[in-house]
Amino acid sequence: MAAKKKSTKKSKSSGSKARQVEPLSRLLRLPEGPVDLSSIDTRSTAGYPGTGKEDAPALTAALEPELSDLQERLYANGRSDPEQAPSVLVLLQGMDTSGKGGVIRHAMGMVDPQGIQLTSFKQPSKEELRHHYLWRIRRALPDPGMIGIFDRSQYEDVLVVRVDQLVPVSEWNGRYDEINAFEKKAVESGTTIIKCFLHVSFEEQKARLAARLDSPEKYWKYNPGDLDARAKWPAYQQAYADALERCNTGYAPWFIIPSDRKWYRNWAVAQLLREHLIGLDLSWPEATFDVAAEKTRVAKA
Ligand code: AMP
Ligand code: MG
Repeated sequence: MAAKKKSTKKSKSSGSKARQVEPLSRLLRLPEGPVDLSSIDTRSTAGYPGTGKEDAPALTAALEPELSDLQERLYANGRSDPEQAPSVLVLLQGMDTSGKGGVIRHAMGMVDPQGIQLTSFKQPSKEELRHHYLWRIRRALPDPGMIGIFDRSQYEDVLVVRVDQLVPVSEWNGRYDEINAFEKKAVESGTTIIKCFLHVSFEEQKARLAARLDSPEKYWKYNPGDLDARAKWPAYQQAYADALERCNTGYAPWFIIPSDRKWYRNWAVAQLLREHLIGLDLSWPEATFDVAAEKTRVAKA
C-alpha cells in the first residue's frame, strides 16, 4: 500500500520514515496504573521521524495517500456489508487551546469528509439533559464503515461535571465503570476506539490564550470563560488523571498526545489513525456480480 503518487517531497520523507522504530500506538499508550500528568512531557516528539517543525508539513502530508486508501477501504466495507463492517472512533479530549480543532482540521482533514462523522459535544441541551448522559454519546457513535470524531465526549461528564460539581460526587463517581462498560459494548460491536488526550502545559495554554487576543482573526477563538477553567487547572488535572487511570482499558486504551508542539500533535494523531486503520487489515469488498458478464454488458451499452 505504498503512496500512489510520488513527489520529491514524499520520497524525501519516506527516507526519514524508516527512523520510526516503534509504533505510536505503543509509544503514546498510557501505561496501566496510577497517572501523574505532571511527569508526562508535553513537549515530547516521541516517534517523530523528522528533525523538527520544518519537516512536519511534508511528513504529515506524506500520510495522506495511505490514509485516504485505508479510509476508502473502510467506507467500501461499510457500503457492501453494513452488518459486519467495522468503524473507528477518534475521541479527542484536552484542556482549552490543546488543539482539538487543529487536529480535526490538519489530521482528520486529510480523509474524505464523506467518510467522517464529526460530533462536537457542548454543554448539554435541555433535551439532552432529560436523558442519561450517555444518550447523546451513543447516538453519535460512528456507523459501520465510518470514522467518527468526538470533539469532547462522555469524559466531560467526569471532567467539567466533576470540577464544577454539576452532580453529586456519588453520581459522577459511578460513571467511570459505566463509561468502561459503554465502551466495551461499542468495541464488541465493531468500533475501534482511539482515545487521545491532548496534553498541553499550563504555560503553553497561557501563550495560546494570549495569541488569541493578539490578532482580530483569532478573537473568535477566545472565550472569556476559558479563564475560569484555567483558574481550576489543578482540579482539572486531577479529574483528567482519574479519568485516564480509571478508563484505561485493554479494549479502549488512552493515548497521551504531547501537544505543546502543534506540528507534532497533528502528525501524531494522523499517524495513530493510520496505525489503527492498518490494524483492521481491510481488503476491498468482493464484487457481488459477475464481473466478466458486466464488462460485456457495458461494452454493448
Ligand atoms: P468548546 O469545545 O470550546 O466549544 O466548549 C464546549 C463547552 O461545553 C466546554 O466548556 C465544555 O466543558 C462544555 N461541555 C461539554 N460537555 C459537557 C457536559 N456534559 N456537561 C457540561 N458541560 C459540558
Ligand atoms: Mg473553547
